[in-house]
Amino acid sequence: MDILLVEDEPEIAKLIQMTLEKEGFSCHLSRDGLRALQVFQEQQPDLIILDLMLPGLDGLEVCARIRQKPGAKDPYILMLTARGEEIDRVIGLSTGADDYLVKPFSPRELVARVRALLRRSLRQGGQHQVYRTQHFMVDVEQHSASRQLSPHPWEALDLTTLEFNLLSTFISHPSRVWNRTQLIEKLWGNDFFGDERVVDTHVARLRKKIEPDPANPTFIKTVVGVGYKFEDSPL
Ligand code: CA
Repeated sequence: MDILLVEDEPEIAKLIQMTLEKEGFSCHLSRDGLRALQVFQEQQPDLIILDLMLPGLDGLEVCARIRQKPGAKDPYILMLTARGEEIDRVIGLSTGADDYLVKPFSPRELVARVRALLRRSLRQGGQHQVYRTQHFMVDVEQHSASRQLSPHPWEALDLTTLEFNLLSTFISHPSRVWNRTQLIEKLWGNDFFGDERVVDTHVARLRKKIEPDPANPTFIKTVVGVGYKFEDSPL
């Protein structure tokens, strides 16, 4: 598992790097945002640990650019923020961070977060891309999706290709906040011309099929002013 660490403060960078290497991860260090984008293109890391405040290009901008051009692997991004208030900015701007950690944090906390993110990534690897959460199971190759709302047993979901791809996108990055542009790129690619609100239509249809109460969604949440995110407990 390759990790790219983008951090301009030498002591923190060194501590993180040592911690991760001790845990068996290979960890590249980049001290500024522009260089980080170059290294990202060259190395295609599985996970990027990205400091918010960086000289030149800040963490939000780096995150946004990577999400625009994810390359072969769409990496997981763990954002480091200095103060609690910045979290709202990170989430609010929806640049696509998967998780965030507020400084100061302990090495153990960092390793736990990294492992949690990479476990998701491991599940995508291999022959079968299967995603499981507490209530859903999606098998990408088999093109099958099912849900379990207790006390009912597992039931297969009858989804259109678009709905299936939308659910797969959501479930592969739980808690990531997606704006409409990002979802359109995932679902239609770069050659989409039309109204972004088409996303809302498909989200509404998917909600009807997976939510116990589509009017008050528990899984596909609306993030006001931004877009959507999928929430379900891990197994
Ligand atoms: Ca910094």
